[in-house]
Amino acid sequence: MADLNDAETDAGDDRSREAARLAQALANMPALVPGTVVLAGAGPGDPRYLTLAALRALGQADAVVHDALVELALLALIPPRAERHDVGKRGGRPSTSQAEIDGLLVRLAREGKRVVRLKGGDPVVFGRGGEEMIALAAAGVPCLLIPGVTAAFAGLAEAGIPATLRGVNRAVILATGHSLQDGPSALDWEALARLGQPMLFYMALRHLPEIAARLRAGGLPGETPALMMAAVTTQSARYRHTTLDGLADAVDGFQGPAIIAIGEIVAFPKDRGQG
Ligand code: SAH
Repeated sequence: MADLNDAETDAGDDRSREAARLAQALANMPALVPGTVVLAGAGPGDPRYLTLAALRALGQADAVVHDALVELALLALIPPRAERHDVGKRGGRPSTSQAEIDGLLVRLAREGKRVVRLKGGDPVVFGRGGEEMIALAAAGVPCLLIPGVTAAFAGLAEAGIPATLRGVNRAVILATGHSLQDGPSALDWEALARLGQPMLFYMALRHLPEIAARLRAGGLPGETPALMMAAVTTQSARYRHTTLDGLADAVDGFQGPAIIAIGEIVAFPKDRGQG
């Protein structure tokens, strides 16, 4: 019994020393400046992927403007004294328009608040964070970026897949599958296929059969391994292994948010005997 109590005390001491080191690390970071907007990444869901810089910013915020992708456990890190603005889509309620979000950020900053704009994943990887930076710059509001762990890399990591591996790939492509439109901002799918490098698609579920067909038409072999990764790092995370040819069927009943990975690298856990 005495031993057990000692062990518990040791564990408690370890935890409090760790908490003290964390508090010191946070205290050593630069303070937020009133009237500035910090555009911070929240990571893909689970709060353990929040950076210390984002944690520090949340701790100092007077106002936090967040999306719906952000998990509830993350919101618990916002100090109760801070104003909270939920501008995300949830339960069929329409999301706040981009112009309204831009206006809100500018107003809060002009009120002299320390504003944190918390966005899922990395704030400027397909998150419209760039548009917010432009709107803030146009209004003369200073803005700082804190990167976050983007969904594609968190998904690969949790599946035990290296994003690059010598001898296998020399590039990783992050792309959006949100729109297949033609025009100047359209992707050249056939060119992507020819590169033969792994691709990680965001927002691709809706157009997946067509995306797969276009990559096939571009010459990517039908047996190229593919991995569908939904709600990574959350309780409802789901992974489905398939191939380029299998994607059109595999998408049935697969709910987002999801990342679709296509490329040889995706087969690597299997080759190591783990898949
Ligand atoms: N800025 C975010 C991406 C925002 S766009 C980031 O860096 O991760 C929204 C898309 O991101 C979703 O449609 C989905 O493709 C992807 N996504 C976001 N969170 C995800 C998660 N936890 N699991 C899988 N995909 C996710």
